[in-house]
Amino acid sequence: MTTFTGHAHTAHERPAPPAELPLRHDWTVAEVKALYESPLLDLVYRAQSVHRAVWKENKVQLASLLSIKTGGCPEDCSYCPQAARHDTGVKAEKLMQLDEVLSSAKQAKDAGATRFCMGAAWREVKDGPQFDSVLEMVKGVKAIGLEACCTLGMISQTQAKKLKAAGLDAYNHNLDTGESHYGDIISTRTYQDRLRTLSHVREAGIEVCSGGIIGMGETVEQRAELLVALANQPKHPESVPVNALVAVEGTPLEKQQPVEVTEMVRMIATARLMMPTSMVRLSAGRMQMSEEAQLLCMLAGANSLFFGDKLLTTGNPAYDSDMALLQKAGVKPLLPSVDKPAAQ
Ligand code: SF4
Repeated sequence: MTTFTGHAHTAHERPAPPAELPLRHDWTVAEVKALYESPLLDLVYRAQSVHRAVWKENKVQLASLLSIKTGGCPEDCSYCPQAARHDTGVKAEKLMQLDEVLSSAKQAKDAGATRFCMGAAWREVKDGPQFDSVLEMVKGVKAIGLEACCTLGMISQTQAKKLKAAGLDAYNHNLDTGESHYGDIISTRTYQDRLRTLSHVREAGIEVCSGGIIGMGETVEQRAELLVALANQPKHPESVPVNALVAVEGTPLEKQQPVEVTEMVRMIATARLMMPTSMVRLSAGRMQMSEEAQLLCMLAGANSLFFGDKLLTTGNPAYDSDMALLQKAGVKPLLPSVDKPAAQ
C-alpha cells in the first residue's frame, strides 16, 4: 500500500470566507438553474476563483467509508442495492464487531484517511445494544485520531446528543434529490423526515454532511431545488457530497444512463459557488470517472474525496490509485479537524 508522502499541515488553518463573499441563504431555484446552465468553463472559472479565495491551500480531505451494517434495509430508495426489497445479491449482514471496525479505521488512517465514516443500512436508529455499540465505535475511531462520521438513517434529538457526547464530528444524511422528485425515488419516508433529522444533528452541535445523487431521472431544475434546499438552511452543511448514480442491477434505477462528467462538474461548481465554506465531496460514481475527469471536479471546487476500495457496497478506486492521482497532481491531504473554514 502506498503511503502518502506529500506534506500535510499541522496548524489549525480554518480560513475565514473573504468579506466580499457573504454566505447566502436566500437562493432561488431559477437563479441556481441559470448558474448551473452557464457556459461550463465560465462556471468552472468562477467556482475555482471562489474556491481559492476561501481554501487558499487547496488541500483535499480524504474520507474513508465503511459499511458497518450492510443490506436488509426496510426502506425503498430506488438507487440503493441495500434495500431488502431489491434483488441485487447484497446479503443482509449483522452489525460489525467493534474490533473489526477499529482495525479497519486504523488501516484507513495508515493509508492517509483523515475522516472515517461508518454507514449502517437502517431506516432509523433504535435505542439498545446496537446503538450502544455504534457509540463505542465512535469513541474508538476518535481515539485513533480520525474524525468520526456516521450515517445511520433517521435519528432523534436524544440520539444525536448521545452521538455528540461520544465524540461524533459529523453525521451524514443526504437529501438525495430535489423535493419535487423525492416521491419518485423513495416512498417510505418524506423530505420533511430528512430535514427533521438534519435539524436534530445541527441542534446537537454535530457537523452536517448532506448532499445528493444526480442521474436519477431528475431535471436540471430539480438539481437546482436540491442545492437550494441545502444552501438555504440556516447554516450550510459543512460537507456536501455530490454523488453520480451507480446504476446497480436489480434496483429500479438499473437502466439509468451514466451521468456525463460535465454534469458532475456543473453540480460541483454550482455547489461550490453557493456554499463556499463547505467541503464539497466527490463521492459515489468516481469509479466511472477518468483521472482527468476527477481533476476537473477538483478544479470545479471538490475538496473532499471518498477513498478506499469500497464505497458501502459499490466499488471505489483503490487507495493506491487514489494516492497516485493526488501525488501526480501535487494535491495535499487535509489533517483531521484542521484546515477548515471559519464557522458561519
Ligand atoms: S439508501 Fe439507506 S435508507 Fe435507503 S435503502 Fe439504502 S441503506 Fe436503506
